[in-house]
Amino acid sequence: MFTLPELPYKYDALEPYIDAKTMEIHHGKHHQAYVDNLNKALEKYPQFVDKNIEDILSDINSIPEEIRQQVLNHGGGHANHSFFWKNLAPNAKEVPGGEFIEAIKTVFGDFDKFKEQFSAKAMGVFGSGWAFLILTPDKKLALKRHSFQNSPLSDGNVPLLAIDVWEHAYYLKYQNRRAEYVEAFWNIVNWGEVEKTFDLASK
Ligand code: MN
Repeated sequence: MFTLPELPYKYDALEPYIDAKTMEIHHGKHHQAYVDNLNKALEKYPQFVDKNIEDILSDINSIPEEIRQQVLNHGGGHANHSFFWKNLAPNAKEVPGGEFIEAIKTVFGDFDKFKEQFSAKAMGVFGSGWAFLILTPDKKLALKRHSFQNSPLSDGNVPLLAIDVWEHAYYLKYQNRRAEYVEAFWNIVNWGEVEKTFDLASK
């Protein structure tokens, strides 16, 4: 059975950028619902419940067709949110380092240009979805929008950085002002974690 991972910080830890009430509902209700619905989808297929969700999404064609879309939706929701929580941190450093920042400079020019382009991707998601920085199978950095809960893993890509732009991620505090939420996001990115993911994935 899949279970809701604990947040690596308290619900109010990301204040004032993401408010405690949003975190509580987002993690405790929305993420929990993806986990519950994933478990329900797999009831008839217990051979999958001991796998990790990242491996399942990376090999989505191994999932029986009659539940594949549910696994993409709810399994994607579980994986994306589990990833997103680790992507965020209170008291985060402002700028990444290591080989990651060198790769960012090579592809985007400089860190500010990268932030601009990532923010533009996040603003360009129509309806519910996510913006990702990914590492492609040929080890290139790229920006990608995904609708709903579709995971980069199902396309063979590794997510390095993600922002949830479903309204449930920001509506209580920011209402329709997605741009303010995206701007606030940059204050709480866990760059140490992003660097670690990049180092592992780029080997
Ligand atoms: Mn969400």
